[in-house]
Amino acid sequence: MNPIYRDLPTTIFETISLRASACGAINLGQGFPDGPRNDTVISAACEALRTRSNQYPPMRGLPELRQAVADWYGRHQALSLDPEEIIVTSGATEALAAALLALITPGDEVILFEPLYDAYLPLVRRAGGIPRIVRLSLPAGRIDAEALAANITDKTRLILINDPLNPLGTRLHSDDLSILASICVGHDLIAICDEVWEALVYDGSQHRSLMTYPGMRERTVKIGSAGKIFGLTGWKVGWMCAAPPLSAVLAKAHQFLTFTTPPNLQWAVAEGLESQDQWIISAAAEHAASRDFFRAGLADLGLATLPSAATYFVTVDLAASGILMDDLAFCEAIIDQAGVAAIPVSAFYYDAPETHLVRFCFAKERARLSAALERLGQAIAAPDGLGLS
Ligand code: PMP
Ligand code: GLN
Repeated sequence: MNPIYRDLPTTIFETISLRASACGAINLGQGFPDGPRNDTVISAACEALRTRSNQYPPMRGLPELRQAVADWYGRHQALSLDPEEIIVTSGATEALAAALLALITPGDEVILFEPLYDAYLPLVRRAGGIPRIVRLSLPAGRIDAEALAANITDKTRLILINDPLNPLGTRLHSDDLSILASICVGHDLIAICDEVWEALVYDGSQHRSLMTYPGMRERTVKIGSAGKIFGLTGWKVGWMCAAPPLSAVLAKAHQFLTFTTPPNLQWAVAEGLESQDQWIISAAAEHAASRDFFRAGLADLGLATLPSAATYFVTVDLAASGILMDDLAFCEAIIDQAGVAAIPVSAFYYDAPETHLVRFCFAKERARLSAALERLGQAIAAPDGLGLS
């Protein structure tokens, strides 16, 4: 047995979701939306299942989907990608695994930023990489340039970033992206950019990938996910984009992980990327409204939140709310006493975690958010309840 996996806990998302469904809690933990639902894309998947091939599609993905991804990035992110530079994967998770397996030689050092998405560390380690973790500032998620520079050695080969950031919903500042670009160029590093939340930014501005910064076009692996763009998280259709010398190596890893992804879903995502620009924009506006509604409701309960500019998530700051419990105790208390599930942000830290932050998913129907707020309010007010009042 490999000790890395033997000693790993089950992911916090699975653990909390199973617990929420076992006790009938409102699940604001794992990030999946109630809606909006894109019927064009769903119908396209049904139609493709009936009318198109259900046999192995090409290993790198359907040409139509690779073209649609390239067109979409051309329209929305000022990126000029050739379909040859795009590899379709079974979700961003597979893209991350493929990229790390393909690009790490055992002993290579990999720069990571925490809070970090839970898959990163085990994947880096299993690929033989040595993680070097730099902490982002709170609440803005800024990079400390000195801490970053101090972690670069002659063994550093890769930087892995998540922008926009799960769990905090922050976006990397353009000054920080410039610093990352100059470090990558100066030290000949490759950047793996997990940008799955790129379509879920709420101030109307365009997501800008590190790939567009000077010197980065040839040394970036950009990862995306249709699961997030269309709110269909179970579909697990993702992709990685990189210049040909990199994508050739990435494809070799992908071919022996999953080889391909269900063709009907690929057809549907291609159709969605080509035709659903307006829906994607209005879905983001709906999520922004849910965020505002939920944050206001939390504020009415005396729960202070960090600003959230992207993703499905808003973070409650327990300390700033005058709550002395740590995040784990708080999540236990609200699932047991209020029937509301959330994610303790300490799960996104490696060492000496921040323990005063709790992540809630706001991408839910208004009625579900209202019910969660009401339940939290009752638990807070109960004399023997959460003991927060
Ligand atoms: N990276 C990040 C930062 C995520 O938040 C997620 C899922 N929420 C993924 C990767 C995985 O994406 P997928 O479901 O497409 O595998
Ligand atoms: N990325 C999702 C989240 O942050 C969960 C994905 C998963 O459960 N693997 O909630």
